[in-house]
Amino acid sequence: MSLRARLTFLYSSLVGGILLLFGFVIYQLVSVSLIDQIDELLARTAGDLVASMRLNAVGEPDVDLAPDLELATNVYVQLWGRNTGLRFASASISHLREPLAPLDQFPAESVYRTTRIGETNLRVLSVPLSLGNRLVGALQIGASLAIVEATQRTLLTVLIAGVLASMGLAALAVSLTTYQALVSLERATNVALQITRADDLSRRIPYQGHPEDEIGQLIRAFNRTLGRLEDLFNAQRRFVADVGHELRTPLTVIKGNVNLLRRMGCADDESLGSIESEVDRLTRMIGDLLLLASVESGKLPLNIQLVEMDTLVLEVLQQTRVLAADRVHVRLGDVDQVLVCGDRDRLKQVMLNLVENAIKYTPAGGDVVVEVGKTDAQARFAVADTGPGIPPKDLPHIFERFYRAEKSRTRSKDGKGFGLGLSIAYWIVHHHGGQIDVESEEGKGTKFCVWLPLAEGEGDCQPEA
Ligand code: ADP
Repeated sequence: MSLRARLTFLYSSLVGGILLLFGFVIYQLVSVSLIDQIDELLARTAGDLVASMRLNAVGEPDVDLAPDLELATNVYVQLWGRNTGLRFASASISHLREPLAPLDQFPAESVYRTTRIGETNLRVLSVPLSLGNRLVGALQIGASLAIVEATQRTLLTVLIAGVLASMGLAALAVSLTTYQALVSLERATNVALQITRADDLSRRIPYQGHPEDEIGQLIRAFNRTLGRLEDLFNAQRRFVADVGHELRTPLTVIKGNVNLLRRMGCADDESLGSIESEVDRLTRMIGDLLLLASVESGKLPLNIQLVEMDTLVLEVLQQTRVLAADRVHVRLGDVDQVLVCGDRDRLKQVMLNLVENAIKYTPAGGDVVVEVGKTDAQARFAVADTGPGIPPKDLPHIFERFYRAEKSRTRSKDGKGFGLGLSIAYWIVHHHGGQIDVESEEGKGTKFCVWLPLAEGEGDCQPEA
């Protein structure tokens, strides 16, 4: 059974059940109240009759209906003498010889009974008549239950019709509302199946309903998951393609050199050197990849301590002097004393990568300026160069792994760059609670800025309890 049918059945049965229960209670209350009213009428009439009763010469009761005592039309009276049998019967039942209710033994006290005479149900009150301690007869007063039964029948019809109508309405309402919700889910399921079948993660599930309702939220969450999956899938595809591409070049060089060595039958220094440098390159790339994998997943252990950024910058400049040689002028701009909490080696790695890139991409005679300072309670490390700049179309992607701007790909003859340095830097800064940004203008130069939370002293670097 479909969910919609199940819900419709469940809710309409629930509504029907509750209404039936209420109906039953109301039916019982009304029946009891109507019978009570009839019993009251019978008791009142009996009281009036007993008051107008007298004994005849043989000591049997006789009813003397006073002129002002008017019996209601549906009230029947019988007067029974203990020894003489039926003494009086009201006009409408004068033909009746039987007692209105069984009178096998004369009752010792008043008794109400429901009996049936012919086709009519009667409520009968039997009242004992006694003289002193002696029981001399009984008075029976009956009233037809036709009105009660008619009322009960009408009530039953109304209740059953009401229950059925309510069940029908509840079923309709539930069916309509669930249809609206489930049709969206059904559509979502179909699109999800199509996505799986067509292997097309770029598709999204449309939703026409209110975006904030439960279904809207579900579909939005599902679409977000699809988006994330698409990104991951694309990243993985790109990653495999990039790694494959990056591995192929050094492996081809190594294989070529090995073939050469084999043909020559002896080891020549140039071929061995080339093999060695390619193996080094591969080793570096694998090291970078492993580092990126652990830094991306946040699993790289960070040895957090107080770090003096200004001292670190001097070390970095010292280390990159050889790379710059006389080709590029590297100089210090404004340098403040700045403290941050972080892993010294990893922060140095970030600075080295930025300064080395600046030197690497700036043509001979260009300038690279390095600064350290504070801005808005943040430590700021900046590297600006007068290099070729990064084209606007590449700018949003340069922190992605293996991304290299088109010019760098063709120009990078030194064979050193894999396009992993900035990705690693990005994640290291990110895990230090900071951020890294870049401004660049083609033909004029590039400026990278790293922002990190400032620290006052050693106490700031304690891990939170
Ligand atoms: P690579 O090993 O290729 O330098 P990075 O991740 O460090 O890898 O840099 C990614 C790309 O960003 C580079 O290939 C280059 O295109 C661009 N880039 C980085 N720094 C600069 C810079 N200072 N000037 C121009 N382009 C840069």
